Amino acid sequence: SKIKQVEFVGSSVRPKDCPKDERPEFAMLGRSNVGKSSLINTLVRKKEVALTSKKPGKTQLINHFLVNKSWYLVDLPGYGFANAPESARMDWSSFTKGYFLNRETLVAVLLLVDASVPPQKIDLDCANWLGRNNIAMTLVFTKCDKMKGGKGKRPDENIKSFQELISRNYKIHPPWIMTSSSTGLGRDDLLLHMSQLRNY
Ligand code: GDP
Repeated sequence: SKIKQVEFVGSSVRPKDCPKDERPEFAMLGRSNVGKSSLINTLVRKKEVALTSKKPGKTQLINHFLVNKSWYLVDLPGYGFANAPESARMDWSSFTKGYFLNRETLVAVLLLVDASVPPQKIDLDCANWLGRNNIAMTLVFTKCDKMKGGKGKRPDENIKSFQELISRNYKIHPPWIMTSSSTGLGRDDLLLHMSQLRNY
């Protein structure tokens, strides 16, 4: 499950512009600021890879990274910019939805969820939408190194609440992994998990 080589292949504005070579792919999705670029950099151990546009209002793109010339890691636009309330809904784009529903080579969505904050409605909605549409997902909890003092909940408590909510409300029980880009926690687990899903 080692990453030996990563190549940025290109950005697609529409799902139909994505690579057509049928290699398996994993799409990374999450609220903006969830730690997606950090996690991509941690996975590929290369600082300059995740050069995705982060400013709201810029053209949103589907970015394909080819790993070991055999599978794709796909960086999708973050949802729910705090200063763009109209995007804070699951119609954050028909564009991303179109990608999920039509991309036959998609092995699983890696739904990134910030473990340093309590469950957020937009993330729960996203998990629900993916579940209802039978799209395979893995919950990738980020920032698990962040210990909150005072009244804040600890990452493990936030993770447990998130899982209880989706299991109770939507009857979905996706696999999950705890990660931290600061400490490298979960990096190898996530790579192994993806290799198992590819070979399944
Ligand atoms: P993106 O918008 O999802 O691509 O998020 P970024 O990767 O840019 O991260 C957003 C913020 O969270 C930055 O300030 C990062 O330094 C911080 N961050 C990302 N990952 C971690 C993590 O694992 N632990 C901690 N403590 N902070 C993180």
